[in-house]
Amino acid sequence: MLTSPPARPPFVLRARVLTPIGAGGTRYERDGRVEVAEDGRLGSVGPWHDASADAERPPIDLRPLVLMPGMIDLHVHLPQLPNAGVGAGLHLLDWLERYIFPLERGFDEATAERLAPAACRAFAAAGTTTAVMYGAVYEPSLDAAFRAVETHGMRAVIGKVMMDRGSYDTRLAIDSILEISLQQSADLCSRWHGADGGRLRYAFTPRFAITCSREMLRESAALAASTGAYWQTHLSEDHDELDEVARLFPEAIDYLDVYDRAGGLGPRTILAHAIHLSDREVARLAESDTAVAHCPASNLFLSSGAMPLAHYLGHRIRVGMGSDVSAGPELSIFANMRAGAYTQSGLHVLADGRGPEPLDPLDWLRLATLGGAKALGQDADIGSLEAGKEADMIAVDPRLVAPVEGIDSHDPAEIMSRLAFRPHPDMVRLAWVRGRSLDGPPGIA
Ligand SMILES: [Zn+2]
Repeated sequence: MLTSPPARPPFVLRARVLTPIGAGGTRYERDGRVEVAEDGRLGSVGPWHDASADAERPPIDLRPLVLMPGMIDLHVHLPQLPNAGVGAGLHLLDWLERYIFPLERGFDEATAERLAPAACRAFAAAGTTTAVMYGAVYEPSLDAAFRAVETHGMRAVIGKVMMDRGSYDTRLAIDSILEISLQQSADLCSRWHGADGGRLRYAFTPRFAITCSREMLRESAALAASTGAYWQTHLSEDHDELDEVARLFPEAIDYLDVYDRAGGLGPRTILAHAIHLSDREVARLAESDTAVAHCPASNLFLSSGAMPLAHYLGHRIRVGMGSDVSAGPELSIFANMRAGAYTQSGLHVLADGRGPEPLDPLDWLRLATLGGAKALGQDADIGSLEAGKEADMIAVDPRLVAPVEGIDSHDPAEIMSRLAFRPHPDMVRLAWVRGRSLDGPPGIA
C-alpha cells in the first residue's frame, strides 16, 4: 500500500523517473529521487541513494509508479467534451453542422459552470496538466471556464471562439459581430492573460478561415501581437475545407497565406492540423516559427488525412500533440500518441516501406511534453522534470499496461511503448501542477 504525498509542496518522492531532457535525450531512473521545493519548482531530480534520506522530510515512496512530466494538449474544444466519441465517418464541414454548432450554441455560462470543473478533472485523470482550449462564442462562458481552471489548479491557455461568418450565434446582428467579438476577446484577455503567475493565459481564437472575415483575422492577430497573448486557429484539415477557403480568399496563394496576410503567423501562434500543406507552406511555417498542434486521432476519426510529421520535424517546425476533442474521441494524449504512431506506420506502409521511419516511443514522449512546451514558448518552465522547472508532473502505474501480471521492464523505450500503445484509463494515478496535486486521477491509497 502506497502513501499519498501531501497536497502541497515541499515534499520528496522516491519513484521511477522517465523524462525527456531539454539538452537532448531521456533520463530514466529505476529508483529515483525527485524533490519539489516549497515554491512548486523541482529542486533536484536524480538517482536515489541512501544519503538521500532526510529525517526532516522523509520521502514518499511511490515505486513502482513512474514520474513523468505532465502531458501538454495543444488543441482541444472545451464545449465539445460531451460529444467525444460520436460522429466518426462524417467529414469536417458536415460534422460541424450536425454535431458541433448545436452543441456550442448551448454552451452558455451555466453550462460552462457545470462542465468546466468536470473537464479539468478529466484532463488531470488523462495525465494532461496543460491544455490549450477553444471555448464557445459567449463571453460569460469563457469567464466560467477560466474560473474553473483557476480553482482546479491545472495550467491552461483558453480563448473565446470568434466567428463573423456563419456563426451559430444568430442573436447578434451580422454587422455588429466583428466589433463585439473583438471587444469581448480583448476584455477576456485583459482579465485572464497571465493570471496566477502565468498559469492561465489567453489565446485570440478565430475559429478558421471559413467562418472569419479578413478583418476578423487581421484584427484578432493585431490584438494578440499587442497583448503578448497567443493566436490560435485551424489550418488545412480537410479537402472540402481547402476548396471553400480557396473560393473565399482568391487573393491568397494558399491556405497558410490567408493567415499570413492577416499577420497571424509567428512564435505565439498555434495552428491545428496543418495536414495538406505545399512545400511553400511548410517552408513558410518554419520561417515564421509558427507552431503546429498535431491531432492524429482527430485526423483519422474524421478521415481528414495523415500529417507528414517526420517531414515537418525535419524542417524544424515546432510541433506538439493535440487531442482535438471532440473531433478526436479521447482526451488522453497517450491514446493520441498511439493514433499518431499508427498514422506514421501507415504512411510508411503506403510508401512501400520507403516512407519516413516511424518515431521511437521516446520521441512521442518528447513531442507530447517538451514539444508542447516549446510550441507554447514555455519550455523554460514546463515540459520535462529538470531542476528549476515547475513541478508539473504525473505518476503513472506501469502495472496497468502490462500484458500479463508480473511483466515489467526497465527499458525506458519499452515502458513508454506500453503506455502509448496500451493506455489504461486508470494508469495516471496522481497529477500535479507546481507541486500542487490536482483533482481527477484516482490516487493510490
Ligand atoms: Zn479543433
